[in-house]
Amino acid sequence: MSAHDVILNLRELASLTSTPDGAQRVAWGPMWRQAREWFAGKLKEIGIQPTTDSAGNSWATLPGQSPKTILIGGHLDSVPNGGWLDGCLGVLSAYEALRRYAGARPAVTLKLVDWADEEGARFGRSLLGSSAAAGSLKVDDLRNLRDKEGTRLLDALRENGVEPDRMGDAQRELKTIDARAYLELHIEQGPVLESMNKPTGVVLGTFGVERNILRFTGQAAHSGSTPIPLRRDAFLAAADTALACREIARRHSRPGAGVVCTCGVVKVEPGIVTAVPGICEISLDQRALDPAVLAQMLADARDAADRAARENNVSLEWKPLWRIEPRPFDARLIDLCAEAVREVTGDAPKLPSGPLHDAAEMVPHMPVVMMFAYSSNGLSHCKEEDTPANYLEQTIESFLRLVEKTATAVAAGRL
Ligand SMILES: [Zn+2]
Repeated sequence: MSAHDVILNLRELASLTSTPDGAQRVAWGPMWRQAREWFAGKLKEIGIQPTTDSAGNSWATLPGQSPKTILIGGHLDSVPNGGWLDGCLGVLSAYEALRRYAGARPAVTLKLVDWADEEGARFGRSLLGSSAAAGSLKVDDLRNLRDKEGTRLLDALRENGVEPDRMGDAQRELKTIDARAYLELHIEQGPVLESMNKPTGVVLGTFGVERNILRFTGQAAHSGSTPIPLRRDAFLAAADTALACREIARRHSRPGAGVVCTCGVVKVEPGIVTAVPGICEISLDQRALDPAVLAQMLADARDAADRAARENNVSLEWKPLWRIEPRPFDARLIDLCAEAVREVTGDAPKLPSGPLHDAAEMVPHMPVVMMFAYSSNGLSHCKEEDTPANYLEQTIESFLRLVEKTATAVAAGRL
């Protein structure tokens, strides 16, 4: 049973690169290098010599009868005290897909990629290797990044044989192959599949994000002497806005197409119990898969915040923090993925991805789809991360089927 072999490999990797606190494969560090060495040994067992590109991504190719290529991705790096499945489930399932064909020549070329520094756990820049390969990385943005000890990212890169100014050369990897599909298996890292009690889900794409700071300015005043109708309470305007934004998210959510919003930061001034708040700043993070829905959510939030400011007699200023477009996956691959999942598990729930993944960087370059495995208690980035054994096996089996179905579709010219 090949799904079982994947689980054995995952356990072996965990035993080599974890402490009692969890996985310690932080990118550019010694345990990560050890994980990669171990993995290179695994590849050699099936006659494949991995290569490393100029951004530190590791590639393994099984040439097929046709140069048309299916890319299968994942990442061996983890956060500190991470889970045993995040990232490496994708890499080791990809390994199994190659191992199945080793010694033979598959109809199309299979290429595994272990992306470097997906997590950004040490220096704060996620999707580092995949963004270099995709051409969306700006090396200048890396120059001032340091870890907690003050080590510069650029020095950590050089220590690992990566010359920062040449990271863009990694774009060659995609430009010199005939890539027809990108597939990635990952643990969900959230509670959606668990809430449905489904082992495996088809991922529709990664959310777009609109992230803003809203600053409400009223007038600080004495909490005893100022009658409520005469107040200009900045906090209440912010609170009205936060509640309105929750309603907006509810209104725009559809089954299988949920949207979210979060006010995660609230700052109140003067911040004393006997004063009406004169200033209140909140963050507003809105996410959706459909660009039109995301734009409408933002417009609705602007209306709601304006109304709340007016009703509370305060002024309002918006400060943009960050935004990213939604990255919807390929409809044909979503169908193939659903077929594979349904054949193994009986049902194929579809869900968007809240977190970003390397797959999102591939969307502008080729058809992409991801598959998610059930997260026990919705937990990830911690040692408790897990998928029940039978669900994990079914998910891996579904993913191997997806690779086969994709190979058949590419060979037949349908992708
Ligand atoms: Zn991950």
